[in-house]
Amino acid sequence: MSNTLPKIAWIGLGIMGSPMAENLIKAGYQVTGFTLEQAKLDRLAAAGGAAAGSIAEAVKDADVVITMVPASPQVEAIAYGDEGILAHARPGTLLIDMSSITPQTSVDLAENAADKGIRVLDAPVSGGEAGAVEAVLSIMVGGERADFDEAKPIFDALGKTIVLCGPHGSGQTVKAANQLIVAVNIQACAEAVVFLEKSGVDLTAALDVLNGGLAGSTVLTRKKDNFLKREFAPGFRIDLHHKDMGIVTDAARNVGAALPVGAVVAQLVASLRTQGDGGLDHSALLRGVERLSGETPAA
Ligand code: NAD
Repeated sequence: MSNTLPKIAWIGLGIMGSPMAENLIKAGYQVTGFTLEQAKLDRLAAAGGAAAGSIAEAVKDADVVITMVPASPQVEAIAYGDEGILAHARPGTLLIDMSSITPQTSVDLAENAADKGIRVLDAPVSGGEAGAVEAVLSIMVGGERADFDEAKPIFDALGKTIVLCGPHGSGQTVKAANQLIVAVNIQACAEAVVFLEKSGVDLTAALDVLNGGLAGSTVLTRKKDNFLKREFAPGFRIDLHHKDMGIVTDAARNVGAALPVGAVVAQLVASLRTQGDGGLDHSALLRGVERLSGETPAA
């Protein structure tokens, strides 16, 4: 039986992109991928996808192109130029950028793509690596309603809470707010962990009961073991959260919104990077609190 589902090109098979692309394959989609690491291309092929040798090769026959790369410069690098998506995708293609980038980059991309007859949605996600693997991501979308409706079956294979937030860039604005809330929440949990340990309280018991009350959160549920075991393999890298704190700080300035606590946490994230922890999971904010509290974090 021939496959009538849209053909997907996936650019950016990292911590998030690999499991997300694999979930589309499991849902029956034909996925052709391109990314910088050969091992990730091999992983896609082993999962039943096709590995392409370039962006052009990946997108030329696609109905839908999905991108999941680190930040605005990478989105611009893969979209524009002679080797980019806009030069090689067919008119009528739907381009869904799921990276977390500045809202303005999404707006500009939608405008430039429209000149080529390519439609764009910004569709950043929340839920982390576990959410990607389990296909339970929250997906915050900006763009046209008709394009959102067309993309909805694809989003349904990747996530659980899927919302059209408004015009181009709106998904990114909501994601920026998400990153503000997550960073402040992790910082508060990290401060509680150091406080509880220094007070001699059983940390496992304390976090369990805290998570059942008003202080409970998805952050605490997902990151509790990182705190308890001091395991900080990413996950979501501090480097990426630093990028996101820059996005939300800048976007808030542009609209005249004050983020006093967010600004402090942005500084703490930045400081963790300068201490050499940029490649660790964002739960490593705990290491910053330990240092401020006169402790030496485990190596
Ligand atoms: P990652 O660094 O693990 O993966 C990024 C991938 O992009 C890499 O595989 C790399 O090969 C690819 N890439 C970069 N430049 C490329 C290019 N020019 N051509 C082709 N491929 C290119 O990052 P990640 O953790 O998967 O995050 C991706 C995006 O998702 C980021 O914007 C991040 O902020 C966001 N995000 C991440 C998480 C998380 O928990 N990791 C959660 C939500 C959102």
